[in-house]
Amino acid sequence: MKIPRRALIFGRFQPFHLGHLGVIEWALDRFDELVLLIGMADESHTVRNPFTAGERIWMIREALKEAGVGLDRVITATVPTMSVYVGHALYIVNLVPHVHAIITRNPVIAQVFRDVGLEVVLPPEFNREKYRGTTIRHLMLTNGDWETCVPEKVAEIIKYLNGVERIKQAGSKD
Ligand code: ATP
Ligand code: MG
Repeated sequence: MKIPRRALIFGRFQPFHLGHLGVIEWALDRFDELVLLIGMADESHTVRNPFTAGERIWMIREALKEAGVGLDRVITATVPTMSVYVGHALYIVNLVPHVHAIITRNPVIAQVFRDVGLEVVLPPEFNREKYRGTTIRHLMLTNGDWETCVPEKVAEIIKYLNGVERIKQAGSKD
């Protein structure tokens, strides 16, 4: 059996957007398989983490199918936190099938995973001004044009979930 070369992409995917898709398509030209690890899996219904881990898995799967990405090459996993330190990196690499590399532009995440023996691969930026979770959540809060920042299927799922109302509710005071 040929051992697949795998890379890890670690994020919150709140929500899954076209920048994530760009990185995934770029990475699939370089690795056999990708592990998408969804952090902060135990937080939802907040402004920073509006969607549940399950909803994020659903968005990712539908977006990849829509883009023609083979789901047989992508593994999704979850982890409750997003904290990074060396002990946590060891914990994380043992939650997922063996990965050779981590794909990240975050220098802290890069260093921590380098320390536990992973190769660090720096992806290009895909229209980072527009395709950034924080920006997209802000657009949702302010009736901005968030829909063009996410794959069509993700926009459909967010509407089905009343995601805009949810994030506004999370941002309001009692
Ligand atoms: P947030 O603002 O909520 O942190 P984000 O857009 O950074 O959202 P994450 O879920 O934190 O999304 O990102 C997961 C990974 O995808 C990170 O390594 C991040 O650098 C990368 N990434 C996200 N958007 C882009 C983009 N437009 N181009 C390149 N890499 C991206
Ligand atoms: Mg981020």
